[in-house]
Amino acid sequence: MFLVNTADYTSKGRSVFNYLYIFQFLNILNSFMKKVALHWKILIGMVLGIAFGFVMNSVAGGKGFVTDWIKPFGTIFINLLKLIAVPLILASLIKGISDLKDISKIKKMGFRTISIYVGTTLIAIIIGLLIVNTVKPGAGMSADTIEKIKAKYETDLGVTDKLVKASVQKDAGPLQALIDIFPSNIFQSFVDASMLQIIFFALFVGISLLLIPEKKAKPLVDFFDSLNEMVMKMVDLIMLFAPYAVFALLANVIIAFDDIEILLKLLVYASCVVGGLLLMIAFYLVLVKVYTKKSPLWFLKQISPAQLLAFSTSSSAATLPVTMERVEEHLGVDKEVSGFVLPVGATINMDGTSLYQAIAAVFIMQVIWPEGLTFSNQLVIVLTALLASIGSAAVPSAGMVMLVIVLESVGFPEELLPIGLALIFAVDRPLDMMRTTVNVTGDATVSMIVAKSLGKLKDKPVEKKWDDTYKTVK
Ligand code: ASP
Repeated sequence: MFLVNTADYTSKGRSVFNYLYIFQFLNILNSFMKKVALHWKILIGMVLGIAFGFVMNSVAGGKGFVTDWIKPFGTIFINLLKLIAVPLILASLIKGISDLKDISKIKKMGFRTISIYVGTTLIAIIIGLLIVNTVKPGAGMSADTIEKIKAKYETDLGVTDKLVKASVQKDAGPLQALIDIFPSNIFQSFVDASMLQIIFFALFVGISLLLIPEKKAKPLVDFFDSLNEMVMKMVDLIMLFAPYAVFALLANVIIAFDDIEILLKLLVYASCVVGGLLLMIAFYLVLVKVYTKKSPLWFLKQISPAQLLAFSTSSSAATLPVTMERVEEHLGVDKEVSGFVLPVGATINMDGTSLYQAIAAVFIMQVIWPEGLTFSNQLVIVLTALLASIGSAAVPSAGMVMLVIVLESVGFPEELLPIGLALIFAVDRPLDMMRTTVNVTGDATVSMIVAKSLGKLKDKPVEKKWDDTYKTVK
């Protein structure tokens, strides 16, 4: 791998030493990295990626270099995670359900999961509303700043794109969300990665397998068991690449920031969102301690690689395979619970997103439509932010699209919508990274609580490494 130039070797003695030093340094670095825990490696990758992004931002041609030569490695990583998400959900849920041997447990699990999800989301929205109404981040914004932001972002492609997507969502009938759960062609659902349709199909298959004689069910159950094991191993292998991928992803995020002045003007608003998100994390840690009696620090340590990836990718859907791997193998949640709770959570449970939507909606109203800030409108926000977070796709900036629907539900003037979105657009990406981290942490927390309540939480999870059986294969 480390090619030594033979010409230099013979003609310039000094170069030989240089090469040897580099070689030695890389060797030491390599053996040091082998001992470092995964979450530290990812963190190092993130910090270096941020630093690299800043450096590239300040050199001529740096942005183009990152876009052409660095970003693709982040994209490849996300593609790989998406590649395995569908088989993973399918296999772990079908295998899990067929292991349950008890249909009443499935009902219990479904009911508990949905109720806790709705409960935590409502708490998130209320925390958001309390913060934004107390701090009032929009109250002191000068007309000058508003004009500046308006001029810069009102016609921005990102803003207009969100408005178009929101109008598509709005035109759907009241029961469209329900219809969308039932697929007519499962291969289409695989192609579209429609999480809820795939979950429905897996439940349908799992329950039907439970209802046929065991001997007949066995080949299929074994097949899905084997598929599940294999995909889990793929997660381990993909994660070997994670520290480099987050480097690429974060360098790319940094080169997109250009107007630091506007970012600073939105600092109070952004701090409200960040403060609320931190409170949600604290709330999850209390839940973990109280309901599962596990140490919150242990929980954070085990789940941190998934959190760091959620932060780097801004997508709970892309993070899902890693969340599943961490929750099953490191937190000790049984497959039948994680296979259901986590994919459902990635789709409908977005506490970070709902908190953000509540704060962003009120902030926008404080700045450009203060007359709309009535108590009854805030109650409407509670309800619509709940529905909007359920309806938000688990992809970057989906929360901002659904924010339009929250604003429309309180009668926000349509002509002000582009300005409203323009106001928060500059800080949306960093806030998206943080709310996605909270979304993923919330799913993991609920999966532990549901597992504990069903007696499906292992005391000592067995961690599997990518090379557990490598030696015997070699
Ligand atoms: N990016 C978020 C997620 O994937 C959704 C959002 O709030 O935009 O969880």
